[in-house]
Amino acid sequence: MIYLKTEDEIDLIKESAQVLGKAHAEVAVWVNPGVATKRLDSIAEEYIKDFGGIPSFKGFNNFPASLCISVNEVVVHGFPSGYILKDGDIISIDCGVKLNGYHSDSAYTYPVGEVSKEVMDLLTTTKRSLYKGIDQAVDGLRMGDIGYAIQSYVEDRGYSVVRELVGHGVGRELHESPEVPNYGKRGKGVKLREGMVLAIEPMINLGTKAVVQERDGWTIRTTDRKYSAHFEHTVVVRKGKAEILTTFDYIEKVTANTSLMVEVK
Ligand code: MG
Ligand code: MG
Repeated sequence: MIYLKTEDEIDLIKESAQVLGKAHAEVAVWVNPGVATKRLDSIAEEYIKDFGGIPSFKGFNNFPASLCISVNEVVVHGFPSGYILKDGDIISIDCGVKLNGYHSDSAYTYPVGEVSKEVMDLLTTTKRSLYKGIDQAVDGLRMGDIGYAIQSYVEDRGYSVVRELVGHGVGRELHESPEVPNYGKRGKGVKLREGMVLAIEPMINLGTKAVVQERDGWTIRTTDRKYSAHFEHTVVVRKGKAEILTTFDYIEKVTANTSLMVEVK
């Protein structure tokens, strides 16, 4: 069942997304060599609760934290831990907020300290691919158009697309129908309708597309242990042009002209 959201519901998701975007920025300024990833988690949780929100991930299928923190070869669903960030790492921070009964979901991958050009290119390509996908989230197009746009953009540049994990609908539930794959065929799949709220979240690998789940039951990593990047926005399908409900504006404001900056243009 795909729930089309009313304008009132979309406004509530936008409110949730504002808290989410600011929570991301609060965390971003702490992303530095020498910082334990669990520290980032407590900053996010406290911020979200201060604004009357609920961290969407904490307790979701028994996930233990407010952030998914996925470092280097970890694709998604990593646990915050005592791991100390070091120069040359990359860190995907994925967060969800429930406010007024509605979820929003977004993710951003940061370079830690100085990373190689090869790794920086992975980050910028993954971020650009997210916007390529969003460009297709238009009433009358098909789900496969989103996946095709992402897949063709990254594969043309020599990267690979994770198949086992996909984006999703967002609303009263964190994960709703339909699934939003980051690969696909043009003109195939679910027809997109105005009011569909979708989390589009390319997970893009430097090497093989193959991933494996660690024994903790959550952590997904690449089988070749090469780096993987992840960017995510929650968007609403509109006529003519998608509307992005989550925001990287706060992140981009605090990371501008720092080593954390991931440019798109
Ligand atoms: Mg997410
Ligand atoms: Mg998501």
